[in-house]
Amino acid sequence: MGSKKVLLSGSVDGKVSALFKRVSAVNKSNGPFDMLLCTGRFFADTGLSGDASEEDTELADYVTGAKEVPLPTYFIGSFGQGAARAIESLSNADASVHYLGRSGIKQLHGLNVVYLDGTYDKQAFEHGSTTASCRHYSKEDVRALERAVDRAEGDVDILLTCEWPADVTAAVPPGSAPADVGSTGSAVVAGLATKVRPRYHISGGKDVFYARPPYLNKDLGAGAHVTRFIALGSVGNAAKAKSLHALALVPAADMDVATLTQRPEGTTPCPYELPSTSKRGAPGDDDGLGEQSWRWQQNKRSKGGHAAPSLGRPDVVKDDRKTVYVKNLPYRATEDDIIGFFSQAGPVADVRRGAEADGKLHGYGFVQFESEEAAAKACQLHGTEFMGRELTVDVSTSGARAPSGKPVEGCWFCLSNPNADVNLVASIGEECYVVLDKGPIVDSHVLVLPVEHYPSQLSLSASSFAEMERYLSALRSCFASQGSELFAFERYMTFRKSGGNHCQLNVLPVSAAAAATARADVQRLARDHGVPLQPLDGPSKGEAGREVLRQAVGDGEYFLALLPDGSRLVHAITRGEKHPLNFGREVAAALAGAPGRADWKKCASTPVEEAAHTAKFKELFKPYDIMQ
Ligand SMILES: [Zn+2]
Repeated sequence: MGSKKVLLSGSVDGKVSALFKRVSAVNKSNGPFDMLLCTGRFFADTGLSGDASEEDTELADYVTGAKEVPLPTYFIGSFGQGAARAIESLSNADASVHYLGRSGIKQLHGLNVVYLDGTYDKQAFEHGSTTASCRHYSKEDVRALERAVDRAEGDVDILLTCEWPADVTAAVPPGSAPADVGSTGSAVVAGLATKVRPRYHISGGKDVFYARPPYLNKDLGAGAHVTRFIALGSVGNAAKAKSLHALALVPAADMDVATLTQRPEGTTPCPYELPSTSKRGAPGDDDGLGEQSWRWQQNKRSKGGHAAPSLGRPDVVKDDRKTVYVKNLPYRATEDDIIGFFSQAGPVADVRRGAEADGKLHGYGFVQFESEEAAAKACQLHGTEFMGRELTVDVSTSGARAPSGKPVEGCWFCLSNPNADVNLVASIGEECYVVLDKGPIVDSHVLVLPVEHYPSQLSLSASSFAEMERYLSALRSCFASQGSELFAFERYMTFRKSGGNHCQLNVLPVSAAAAATARADVQRLARDHGVPLQPLDGPSKGEAGREVLRQAVGDGEYFLALLPDGSRLVHAITRGEKHPLNFGREVAAALAGAPGRADWKKCASTPVEEAAHTAKFKELFKPYDIMQ
C-alpha cells in the first residue's frame, strides 16, 4: 500500500496567500501531495479583540472560490484577526480549506490525525469555555479527545497541536536542541502526546524549526513505536526558520508490526516519562498539568488515616520489571500503610490502586519498587498477612499475549485499572462484569467482559466463561421481560495498542420482528461488508459450544455473532485480511432498528447522561442480575 504525501505548515498568521503560493510551487516541483496540515496560529494575532473582527481575512477569496486552493487544507489555530467570521463562512462554503475543530480524531486521506486547537490558559483550562473560536482549550476538550482516541482503532499517525509540549527537548544529546525553547511548552500537550503516542507530533507557535530525534513510546504490552516531534516556524518569519515541511508516510493501519515498531538509530527514551531527577524541575507543575497529573491532584495522596485511591505518581515511569501485582489488599489500608509494608522488600517508588465509582477501593493494585531485586523479594511476601488479610503477591506482566489474565495497565476494560470506566458498570460478578456501552446503540446495549485481561472467550478459564454465559442468560431474561430478544457479537483482534484486545461481548435487545429475520439480515450485511459468515453447527453453549468455536477459528482472530435463536455465525479472520472494524456495530444497529447509531462517535454522551443511563439499566436488570 502506498505512502501518503503530506505538507505541514507552521503558523500562517493570516498570510494565506503567501502560504498557498508557496504550497502551489512545492506541489508542482515535489508533488503531487495529498494534503496540507497547518498548525500554530492560522489567523493574524492581533489580540483577543481581533477574534470577532468583521474584517475580511485573506482566506475570504479562497472561501468564495475567487482564488484556487492548491491542496486540500486542514487547520487548527482558529483564533486571531477575523477568525470567528472566517470559520463561520467556511462551515457554509464548499471550499477545500477545512477547520478541523476544537479537538478530535479524523481520518484524512487514510491517515489517523488527532488535533487539539488552542493554547494553555489556567482559567480556561480549569473552568472551560469552549466556544468555536476560543484561543484556549479546556480540560473537557482534552478529556473528550482522550476518550475519542481510546475508542478509536489503530495507531495515530499525526498529532497536531498549536503549542510545543513541555520538556520535549529532555533526553536529547547535549547541544542538539534549539536554545531557550524547552522550558516554555505545555505540560497538557506533553501529557496528551504521551497518551496518544502519535508517529508524528507537529507543533507550531514559535519561530523555530526543530526535528527532534525519535523517542520511544512506552510499550503497553504489544510493541512500542517511536514518535517524531517536528516544530515549524511561522510563514514568512523574520528569522527565516523553516515553515513548510514535507512528509511521505504509509498509514499505520497499512504497516506490519515489525516495520511500525522499528527503532531508528538515535532513538531516545520518551522525554515526558523520565524519572523526575533527570528532568528540569518544572515550575509550572501546579498549572499546566497532563491528564495523569490532574488525576493525581484530584486524588491527593492519602495522608495517615484515610484510605484513598492511589493513581500513580506522574513522575514515575511505570516499569513492569520492578512492579508486583497485589491482591486481597485490606480496604482500610492507606497508601502509607502499603508503602510501609512493602518497604521490607526494598524502597517503594509508586503505588497504583483504583476504586469503584462509589469510592470503594479495589482489593488489588500495583506496587512498583526502585529496583527489580526489590520486586523479586516482594514476591516472597506472597501469603503473608497484612492488616489481617493474607496477601497474594505476584510479578506484574503486561501484554496482549499474557495468558494469565493479569491486568494490563492502560486497558480501559481491566477493572483494576485506575482509568477503567467504573461509572458505567452495571453488575460485577466473581470473574466477569457487565458495563453499559460508552456509545450505546440502544438503551440496554451492554458489554459482558472478564474482570481481568483475557483477549477472547477462548482464553477464559472455565469458571469465567461459565459466569459470562450466566450473565448472557440473565440478560436474555431481562430483555424478554421487555418483549425483546437478545443479539450479541464478539470480535477478537490482536490490537497492538493498550496491551491488545480485552475480551468483550456486545449484547443488546432487538425486537421480536427483527429477531425473526435476524439470520437472513445478518448474512445480507455480511455479504455487503465482505465478511463471509459460517454457521457453527453442534452445541452452542457451555464448554462443548466453546470447543466448536475453537475448532472453527483455532487461536486466530474472529468475528462471532450470537443470533436471537441461540445459534452462532462465525468468520475466521485470516492473516493480512482487512476486517471492517465497525462491522459488529453496523449489524447490531441494523437489527436494533437504529442504523444511524452504528457510528459510536455519534453516540457520545455526557457523564451526567451516562450516570442516568446506568442507573436506569441497573434498575431494569436488578431482578435478573446473577449477583443480586
Ligand atoms: Zn484489559
